[in-house]
Amino acid sequence: MLGDERTMSIDLAEIAAKSGIKYFLISYTDLFGTQRAKLVPAAAIAGMQKSGAGFAGFATWLDMTPADPDLFAVPDPASLTILPWKPSVGWLAADLWMDGKPVAHAPRTVLKTQLAAAAELGLTLKTGVECEFFLTTPDGTLVSDSADTQVKPCYDQQALMRRYDVITEICDAMQTLGWRPYQNDHEDANGQFEMNWLYDEALITADRHAFFKYMAKSIAEKHGLRATFMPKPFANLTGNGCHIHISLWRGDTNAVAATQASDFLSQLGLNFIGGLIHSADALAALLNPTVNSYKRINAPRTVSGATWAPNTVTWTGNNRTHMIRVPEGDRFELRLPDGAANPYLMPAAILAAGLDGIAEARDPGPRLDINMYTEGHTVEGAKKLPLNLLDSLRALDACAPLRARMPELVPAYLKLKLAEWNSYTAHLTQWERDTTLDC
Ligand SMILES: [Mg+2]
Repeated sequence: MLGDERTMSIDLAEIAAKSGIKYFLISYTDLFGTQRAKLVPAAAIAGMQKSGAGFAGFATWLDMTPADPDLFAVPDPASLTILPWKPSVGWLAADLWMDGKPVAHAPRTVLKTQLAAAAELGLTLKTGVECEFFLTTPDGTLVSDSADTQVKPCYDQQALMRRYDVITEICDAMQTLGWRPYQNDHEDANGQFEMNWLYDEALITADRHAFFKYMAKSIAEKHGLRATFMPKPFANLTGNGCHIHISLWRGDTNAVAATQASDFLSQLGLNFIGGLIHSADALAALLNPTVNSYKRINAPRTVSGATWAPNTVTWTGNNRTHMIRVPEGDRFELRLPDGAANPYLMPAAILAAGLDGIAEARDPGPRLDINMYTEGHTVEGAKKLPLNLLDSLRALDACAPLRARMPELVPAYLKLKLAEWNSYTAHLTQWERDTTLDC
């Protein structure tokens, strides 16, 4: 944020002169996850670094009116990322300011506020994200590779290597940027891929997550393709998840790791999970933020044999059929978020719910080691995830912990998302005609 000692000493004009940057892309992510930017010539960056680039906030997905004064996007110099595919441009994540104050409901600010709340407890959040995406035709209606038709296409070597040029261009870029990428694969749906880079502190991962989406789309476009993170672009295929791996640290000590060989996670880790389980239906409003998201969770079995998405609010060990998986006892994986999750609001909401779990010593309930897809009906009382966006928005509306910990975000988000839901329901669909015309 403005005045951050870590970044005060970074002089963007000087960096531009040394590195050959001609333009800076001052970028912010709005409430719906859309990235907005101004392209600023290097000669003007010194003033922008100080005061920010001006925007009309109402023109983007923020809770503002046309009468509001200028919104200023103040770039965080620590986030400077030179575009590997266009090295004359430097991308910068920005924080939003208005009337000399941070915009409290702006996603990057919401995340910083939650990180500060964790820091008060001596805790640092670290995250790693698994961004699944499809490579489609430019109009987004078909998988781009017509030969990619296996019923079980996960890890398909042949299909992966047919997309070698685009996948390795993205991976090479991550290596250049120092993200330490370590694997790329074909995922469980035809045309679907996943690329993994090393976890880091949550704000660094959030900026990288935002940039990764921009980069994957840009490099795919260069190759005549389209990269989409849409949660469920094809009804019969596995959707795009955005599983997130979570750990909390006190200095160099992992605070969620088991303290004794007999324990599964630390008490703090269990309480954090307890918080996620307590607020899961409300979290869905932020982690599954679109109408389309609910076609991924609660979905019928896909052609590959499994959706790999959760249906119930349960936790387990190394088992991918539950909402929370604890793979190795040093972190946990939340499998709820999808490709539409906002890179900043996702970790912010998770941290808010988890800190509530710690504050209230919430019990996550029993660990379940069954296959939830086939034996889920045998579990009594397991909470179900919301069936649609409206249900999750209502759950968020009623969620005291998230409202208390994100008091500016929740009403702003609900206002915009309920308007979006109403716009969706105003559409008369062919399905309605087919099922109701002869009523
Ligand atoms: Mg995956």
